[in-house]
Amino acid sequence: MLAATHSRALIASSPLSTRHLFNSLRTRLSTVASSLPHQPIPGQPAFTLFSRATSSNNSLLYSTPSLFRTLHSASTIGPESALSTKPSSKRLPAYSPPSPSSPHSQVFPDGNIKVQSPLGFEGADGLVKVNARLLRDYIQRTPHPPSKDYVTLSYYQFRPIPHKEDLLKIQYFFLTDLRAMDVVGRIYVSSEGINAQISCPKDRVEDFKDYYATHWPIFDKIRFNPAMSEGKAFKKLHVRIKGQLVADGIDNSTFDIYNEPTYLTPEEWHKELSSQTTPPILIDMRNHYESSIGHFEHAIRPDVTTFKENVDAMLDICKGKEDQEIYMYCTGGIRCTRSGALLKSNGFKSVKMLRGGVTAYGRYIQDQREQHVAEGRGEEEVKSIYKGKNFTFDKRLGEPITDEVLATCHICGTACDTYSNCSNMACNLLMISCPACQQKHQGTCGSGSCVEMVKELNEKQKKIDKNHPGLRGMKARLGIQPFHEHRLRVRPLKVMENRRNKARI
Ligand SMILES: [Zn+2]
Ligand SMILES: [Zn+2]
Repeated sequence: MLAATHSRALIASSPLSTRHLFNSLRTRLSTVASSLPHQPIPGQPAFTLFSRATSSNNSLLYSTPSLFRTLHSASTIGPESALSTKPSSKRLPAYSPPSPSSPHSQVFPDGNIKVQSPLGFEGADGLVKVNARLLRDYIQRTPHPPSKDYVTLSYYQFRPIPHKEDLLKIQYFFLTDLRAMDVVGRIYVSSEGINAQISCPKDRVEDFKDYYATHWPIFDKIRFNPAMSEGKAFKKLHVRIKGQLVADGIDNSTFDIYNEPTYLTPEEWHKELSSQTTPPILIDMRNHYESSIGHFEHAIRPDVTTFKENVDAMLDICKGKEDQEIYMYCTGGIRCTRSGALLKSNGFKSVKMLRGGVTAYGRYIQDQREQHVAEGRGEEEVKSIYKGKNFTFDKRLGEPITDEVLATCHICGTACDTYSNCSNMACNLLMISCPACQQKHQGTCGSGSCVEMVKELNEKQKKIDKNHPGLRGMKARLGIQPFHEHRLRVRPLKVMENRRNKARI
């Protein structure tokens, strides 16, 4: 009882810094180490310190026995970096990788997998709460180095992870370990495997790859696919548990997901496709808003808004062509790995896909250009069979591969391929709008209600700025009813018109 009282030492923190308090708490705790019973009290939360200490510098710090053990055994989750709440320093905080001697996961010879339990693990229900708090709390206030010091990587692997509890553990480890590494981005885990796009500090890329190699043998087939442009593409770290990695609504038991299509490297892809005299069946597995700003020459581009629709379209296109060669591509490869396996399972003999997708092809072209320049030849000699931009699902909304502009402004119809979201946050419509229309319609989609709304908000903002100079720049958008709510991927008016006409006929 005495030890428990000691270990739950309460320290009023107001005049001291959090880090100082943390250190003094740790010193105090280690002096009572010998008298402490090494069993956690049932029902005690294990991670109280982290959430309390980060919610405010003036909160009370207190510990529980299980937390004490976590700290005392030189915790693997980096509690010190978890306590730095403000982006006060632009330098990377110190990083010590989790111990390589006890990997987070294991694969047994029979193919079964095991994911270790985090320290202080008290069941899946507890982890749900801890993960929710990690996602909500300090994970989003990490001290980032300047954006240009990041590289963006995407990677995926299909791997069955049957137990929900394992998914929660993976989520927990990613949230804590990657946060300590200062990685931001989006990671989806599901019972099917993993799919991720992240931005990692340049200096930590090797650490990051080592981390996967050491701790995640269950994700041994991952290939890290770097984006064309450097810089940070995300603001926060999100690790989510999903039902399906790519949603096509097809039951995994109806086909063999490991019956994968043939992978072509960007170079092989380029050579095969540019040497063919008659265009082969080449399917763009992306949505219309992705393929409209850039695509491979002669590609069939289904007019679809979701991957599910695209899979249906693909099955239609390929019907009766089981003996022909089918080529397919998408942004990073995951959609083709899945839909290619579906085709192969349905008796298609030759299905080929672009490894690493358009992103990898873009890098290949970029490298070719650099090589040409280094050899004193003009970079315009490099012929790309992909025209236009590669749409990306991050704040860049696309990176150019060639200078061709394939799309038009959705409002006025001039050539333009820059995506943006309607500035009325309640609308948020993804659209292509030229600089002139941006200015004319206040950055909105041009609909009357959106223009009205943004005008009203700007007026309101002006008043707030005037009356409360201290609040300037803050978005005071709360408490205003949106006129309409839709999150659509917009089609140019012409396409919509054609569709209506078709429907009439
Ligand atoms: Zn326009
Ligand atoms: Zn709008």
